[in-house]
Amino acid sequence: MDLKALIRDVPDFPKPGILFRDLTTLLQDQAGLRYVIDQLADRYQGQKIDYIAGIESRGFIFGAPLAYRLGVGFIPLRKPGKLCSPVYAVEYSLEYGSDRLEMHQDAVQPDRKVLVVDDLIATGGTAAAAAQLIQQSEGELTGFAFIVELMELNGRNLLPDVPITTLVNY
Ligand code: AMP
Repeated sequence: MDLKALIRDVPDFPKPGILFRDLTTLLQDQAGLRYVIDQLADRYQGQKIDYIAGIESRGFIFGAPLAYRLGVGFIPLRKPGKLCSPVYAVEYSLEYGSDRLEMHQDAVQPDRKVLVVDDLIATGGTAAAAAQLIQQSEGELTGFAFIVELMELNGRNLLPDVPITTLVNY
């Protein structure tokens, strides 16, 4: 399937110089949405994974159906102040700004295997923060899955040495 044909390119959003890869056009395509979830599910079927950790907010959209397909739990990694119980927190820098990611301290038990999911990897700062959260919890980070990778930003260089799955590369 030609996924690039389903992804909308929006120049200068959310600020000048950023070429935003809009996945809402992929999400609303019934065949496209099913295809990307099926691709990821096929890739991870049979692997030992206890949890999918999805990064707010677009990582929720892809991570939750993947967790459902794999028959594993889903953990939300959230923006500041959204979670209600004690959290681990990591500050990180974005392609367009800086932010903070939080995870409930009791979400991952030691040595449980966690796959981190987001829609897109740009500079890698967000995914690296997610990895730090898993490490703080003493869970085992088993890999990353992204729909889109922006290759020229070399975001994967910021990530720990675990397998990375991407479906579309720019
Ligand atoms: P980064 O931390 O730089 O890897 O940024 C990744 C996060 O920012 C992801 O959650 C993306 O949703 C979002 N993002 C960054 N750059 C873009 C872009 N050019 N197009 C769409 N989303 C982006």
